[in-house]
Amino acid sequence: MKIAILSQDSSLYSTRRLKEAGEKRGHQVRVVNFLRCYMNITSHNPSVVYGGKPLENFDAIIPRIGASKTFYGLSVVRQFEVMGVFSANESQAISRSRDKLRCVQILAREGIGLPVTGFAHDTEDIDGLIETVGGAPLVIKLLEGTQGIGVVLAETDQAARSVIQAFRGLNANILVQEFIKEAKGADIRCFVVGNKVVAAMKRQGPEGDFRSNLHRGGKAEKIKLTPEERSTAIRSAKAMGLRVAGVDLLRSNHGPVVMEVNSSPGLEGIEKATGVDVADKIIDFIERNVDIKTRDRIQV
Ligand code: ADP
Ligand code: GLU
Repeated sequence: MKIAILSQDSSLYSTRRLKEAGEKRGHQVRVVNFLRCYMNITSHNPSVVYGGKPLENFDAIIPRIGASKTFYGLSVVRQFEVMGVFSANESQAISRSRDKLRCVQILAREGIGLPVTGFAHDTEDIDGLIETVGGAPLVIKLLEGTQGIGVVLAETDQAARSVIQAFRGLNANILVQEFIKEAKGADIRCFVVGNKVVAAMKRQGPEGDFRSNLHRGGKAEKIKLTPEERSTAIRSAKAMGLRVAGVDLLRSNHGPVVMEVNSSPGLEGIEKATGVDVADKIIDFIERNVDIKTRDRIQV
C-alpha cells in the first residue's frame, strides 16, 4: 500500500512510529505536511498538490491533525476522501471529536456513562448552573481547552461562582461538571483501534493535582480494564464514528464515566507505558479495512 501520514512534523514520536510500522510491514509511507498542501477542487479530477506535484495513487491516509490546525487539516482530509482514499479517521468524525460539548452530547445520546455536565456561555443564572451538577466541588472547563489547561476545580460554591464569572468575562464557552473525587487524580486512557481496545494505561497526576494529563507532569502505567470499561471505550469510539481513538475514562462510584474522546491520540505515552506496538496495530487495521467502500462507512 501507499500510505500518507498527514502531520506537521515528521520528527514527532507518533509520526515516526507510524512511518516505521508501515515500512516494516512492507508499505510505502510518506509524511505529508498538510499545511503545505493545496487542493484542486474540481469534480472530474480532484487532487491534493504537495511540493509542486499531485499526491496520487494513495491507498490510505493517517491524519495527525493538531487541534489548532483543525480547519485546514480537515479540509485536506476531506479532499482525500473525495478522491476515494481511505482515512484511518474520517474528517467528520475528527471534527465531531474536536468539540467537547458535541462529544458529550453524542455520548449521552448513546447512554454512555458521563459525569453530570452543564454547559453555558453567558448565563445570569450561575447558581442554577452550579445546582445542575449538584453543587461544589465541581470542575469547570473551557470548551476549547486541551492538555488540561483551562480545567479548574472549584471546591466551594463561592469559588465556582467566581471562576464562572471570570470565564464569562472572557466570553468563553464553558462546561461545568460534577467532580469525580473517587478517581483520585487518575484517569484511564483506552486506545481503541477498530472495535478493540489495543492498549490501556492509568495516568496519575502529580501530587496535589486532580488533573492526570501527562503534559501536566502526570505518570503513566499499564492497567487491566474491567469488561465494562472496555465496552464503554469501544462504544464511545463507535458513537463518535472514530476508528482510531483515545478514550479517557474516570473510575467513578457509579462505574466508568467518559471524559473525552481524542481523535489523534499520542502513541508515546501509551507505547512506553504498556509495551504494546500500537503503531503496528493501526497499520494492521488499515490493511484490513482499506477496501471498505465509502457507502459502507460509518456516518453519525
Ligand atoms: P483536557 O482535554 O484539557 O485534557 P480534560 O477534560 O481531559 O481536559 O481534563 C483534564 C484532567 O482533569 C482529566 O484527565 C482528569 O484527570 C481531570 N478531570 C477532568 N474532569 C474531571 C471531573 N469531572 N472529575 C474529576 N477529575 C476530572
Ligand atoms: N494529545 C495527547 C494524547 O491524546 C494528550 C495526552 C495528555 O495530555 O495526557 O495522548
